Amino acid sequence: MKNLILFIFFNFFFINLHALELKGKFYQGNLIIGNTEPGSQIYVDKKKIKISNDGFFVFGLSKDRKNDIIIEVVKGKSSEKIIKKIKKKNYKIQRINNLPKKQVTQPKEFYERIKNDNKLIGEARSVNSDLSFFSNKFQVPLKNSIITGVYGSQRILNGIPKSPHYGLDFAANEGTKVNAMLDGVVTLSEKNLYYTGGTIIFDHGHGISTLYMHMKNVNVKKGQSIKQGEVIGTVGKTGRATGPHLDVRLNWFDLKLDPASVLNLN
Ligand SMILES: [Zn+2]
Repeated sequence: MKNLILFIFFNFFFINLHALELKGKFYQGNLIIGNTEPGSQIYVDKKKIKISNDGFFVFGLSKDRKNDIIIEVVKGKSSEKIIKKIKKKNYKIQRINNLPKKQVTQPKEFYERIKNDNKLIGEARSVNSDLSFFSNKFQVPLKNSIITGVYGSQRILNGIPKSPHYGLDFAANEGTKVNAMLDGVVTLSEKNLYYTGGTIIFDHGHGISTLYMHMKNVNVKKGQSIKQGEVIGTVGKTGRATGPHLDVRLNWFDLKLDPASVLNLN
């Protein structure tokens, strides 16, 4: 009997010793980092995802996700399944009416350019490298700035719902230095995209990318490795921006996540 109890205890303890550790809050739009025994296989919603040599993996929760998420770790013959509920985030909705038509829809002559920009951005966001910088702590990209726009907010202009705002806006003076939030490799560096103006995208591994937009100066080149805190450019109002500010984005492949979730701002 005593042996049996010990046996059960040992197994319970053993399983939990190698259990996965999940960092991040299970809110809509958040990034979750996991760590488990190296060599395991990880499935999120039954889809296999990458795991680093030291056991790190990462995934994101979509902005409007309502379903529970299933995380499964398989090691040899043992497997462990964790089901997490997703908490709702309240997004701001702003209605503005009686705007002149050209402020609501983009003129046709820019369609080609916008399409091309989107292709470049899409390619950068689909990179699935083995880098594991995503498991490190992010830092805010600007000193002395105020947040003027948050993730998920949406404008309804003349009754037409525009796409939600997926970024985090920092208002700052034009020319303020912008620092990299995390180590990464530059996968896009463009001076003048239609919507986003001066734009930089970094790959941080496993499909995690960050994007910086509306920049006045872009000081990095595609393929360059950048350390956290390095100056990558300056704040501007390039592209479709109403005033100088930095808008940063966080993505897990094509899923747009809340940058505040990695900057400890929510
Ligand atoms: Zn913005």
